[in-house]
Amino acid sequence: MQATVLYGAGDVRFEDRADPVIVEPTDAVIRLPVTCICGSDLWPYRGIQPVASPAPMGHEYCGFVEEVGRDVTAVKPGQFVIGSFFASDNTCPHCRHGYQTSCQRFEPVVGAQAPRMRVPLAEGTLVATRDVPDTGMIPSLLALSDVMGTGWFAADAADVKPGVTVVVVGDGAVGLLGVLSAKQMGAERIIAMSRHQSRQTIAREFGATDIVTERGDEGVERIKQLTKGVGADSVLECVGTQESMLQAIKATRPGGYVGYVGVPHGVSLDGQQLFFSHVHLHGGPAPVRKYLPKLIDLVFNGTINPGKVFDLVLPLAQVAEGYRAMDERRAIKTLLQP
Ligand SMILES: [Zn+2]
Repeated sequence: MQATVLYGAGDVRFEDRADPVIVEPTDAVIRLPVTCICGSDLWPYRGIQPVASPAPMGHEYCGFVEEVGRDVTAVKPGQFVIGSFFASDNTCPHCRHGYQTSCQRFEPVVGAQAPRMRVPLAEGTLVATRDVPDTGMIPSLLALSDVMGTGWFAADAADVKPGVTVVVVGDGAVGLLGVLSAKQMGAERIIAMSRHQSRQTIAREFGATDIVTERGDEGVERIKQLTKGVGADSVLECVGTQESMLQAIKATRPGGYVGYVGVPHGVSLDGQQLFFSHVHLHGGPAPVRKYLPKLIDLVFNGTINPGKVFDLVLPLAQVAEGYRAMDERRAIKTLLQP
């Protein structure tokens, strides 16, 4: 088969690779009807995260089970499944506490920007849908594998509940789906921080009630004005830079919550500032596996349509253009068709 490999900054190739096979008895091999590019793939693409050797790319996936190892009984060939970007056994103490991305046996999932892939720890990682979904629903199911699950975790970690005021820092796919998640959890007011017209439009469709275009301390000032000087109850940090993290902490009221899901790059926090801010901080790689059954139901019954974040569709062979479009912010998120 042909699949996506990153050789270094800006160097994405679509080239021949061995077909995935069952290596461990706990593996599954699945066929991917669609796949996509993640905002976090841009860190190595931009050279911010070094690439030591050619890396097979892609960690978001859903598709049809083709083959399973002898220890896998929870899913069967022919079923449609979705899994998280980290594989987990779903049985260890961390998994049982709902932190499957800290699983004691965790394995990263790689190679999803391809027509087929191997999923390790398939028994604990994959969740089958009750029926084979309609084609139109598949992009929304694909989004659950990472961006939607991550936006949901950001809102959950930020303690979003009915009636609260929420701020979302970041207007990438995760931030936009953080807006959607906060709306589902009953937030009364959702302030999206965004400078881009097309993203503001989607944020409003997903439930944003206010848009703030200012950033940094000016952005914080604007949030304070909008909340009568108090700050927000819940802030979702969906970027991972020093500026965005401080913006999130400073926009939160004393006693409020920051849910942070942007992978930190160059972030360092001052102990004194943190101490006197009085905010709860909770974040990390989203335990998507915990949320999959609920989110699959919400997609199947038509309550949410997170696939709306895909605003560019390309054949998988044009994956390099998909990266360029996201890097240049011409696209929010690229859907790829094998
Ligand atoms: Zn585990």
